Amino acid sequence: MKYDVIVIGASPAGLMAAWKAAEGGANVLLIERRESFDSAPSPADTSFDGFFKMIGLEPEEKYIIHKVKGMNIISPLGTTITIDAPGFSIDRKRFDAYYAEMARDAGAEIKMSSDAIALNEGEVAVKEGENKKMYNGEVFVLAPGVNSEIVKETGLKTMKYPEDLAYAIQAEIEGVEVDENYFHYFLGKEVAPGWKTTISPKGDGKASVGAFVRGKSPKEYFDRFLQRDMFSKAKILSISEGADQIITMPNELVSDRLMVVGGAAGQAGIAYGMAAGMLCGEVAAEAVKEKDGSKRFLSKYEKQWKKKFLNQYRTGRFGLKTIEKMSDAELDEAMRALEGVDISKQLSKHDNVILNSLSTGLLLLWNNPKLIRFAKYIL
Ligand SMILES: Cc1cc2nc3c(=O)[nH]c(=O)nc-3n(C[C@H](O)[C@H](O)[C@H](O)COP(=O)(O)OP(=O)(O)OC[C@H]3O[C@@H](n4cnc5c(N)ncnc54)[C@H](O)[C@@H]3O)c2cc1C
Repeated sequence: MKYDVIVIGASPAGLMAAWKAAEGGANVLLIERRESFDSAPSPADTSFDGFFKMIGLEPEEKYIIHKVKGMNIISPLGTTITIDAPGFSIDRKRFDAYYAEMARDAGAEIKMSSDAIALNEGEVAVKEGENKKMYNGEVFVLAPGVNSEIVKETGLKTMKYPEDLAYAIQAEIEGVEVDENYFHYFLGKEVAPGWKTTISPKGDGKASVGAFVRGKSPKEYFDRFLQRDMFSKAKILSISEGADQIITMPNELVSDRLMVVGGAAGQAGIAYGMAAGMLCGEVAAEAVKEKDGSKRFLSKYEKQWKKKFLNQYRTGRFGLKTIEKMSDAELDEAMRALEGVDISKQLSKHDNVILNSLSTGLLLLWNNPKLIRFAKYIL
């Protein structure tokens, strides 16, 4: 079978790429290895209104299960900085099904239980149950998530710092005693070296609780976190594991007839992956119309995405790398100095939150003479 555009992986990035390529007039096939959108949904289940606004989408009530006013960032010794940034928890089964429907309505064909096993010169081999089938395409969009064999085989160095992947354990838990008006992010070497431990409320005492760690296994941090009082009546409903590309930095994303998007491309986060997918789908449709799938033509996607978003990743990397060098006591002291500073106002000048909150916070230290000694970490 011959298609204009073949998308591999129904990740947020892949679904958007299939939707936009089909909307642009291309004949699109989306290949997904899961049996259905109900099976093994991704653990990524939160986002922010600001992220969706930034990428030009409205979050849909159909998949939102809980809304928050913002986030609490909690230092190793318990100093809390509250940031106003409305956000929401997502039911991933409904989220994936919603955007798959958009792609189908635009004309894309979606094949579930289909595992792409090899990609060669305009042809992808797909395992469908016991059968192996070959599909031909003009342009391929790879959106199969992080650590994918099919992406490794392209030879592209899609992440600049792959060694900086964070590994995570996340559980859905009921009976959590926490303020459900906020997402809660705990920082520090004791709680999650290299990134964060999170509580994302889902309403009625349910929450996703995750430990995201770089350079070590997250298991001991996850287990230790669950010993806290707020979980004394809690019951674990399900557990998932995964890798977060948070500061790996997108790098080489394109070659002839090929674009890589989403986690596989170091584009961490649901919204950034969706933005990349939309752009990539539009460029794929244009490439088909122009009969030009060359690396030069497809580079339009990489250039535009990087122009819009790369600086936000740079700021985030700067924030986390700076915190990495601080002891827990220093991080606490730095955060105490920021208590009462209106980071939300500073942030309103930018599109982004979370990582940029940290980075903005660190940059604010420049204006605080008491904390000038921390400048050595920032430089
Ligand atoms: C535990 C955890 C929690 C996270 N929470 C959040 C969060 O709350 N909010 C947020 O913004 N980000 C979160 N992230 C980061 C987020 O997961 C990623 O940045 C990104 O959203 C995931 O999309 P992805 O592109 O990696 O693809 P994935 O979501 O991994 O999807 C890839 C899809 O491709 C399919 N696939 C893979 N290989 C093949 C193949 N060969 N053939 C066919 N199909 C294939 C898979 O079945 C899957 O459906 C979290 C990460 C982790 C590890």
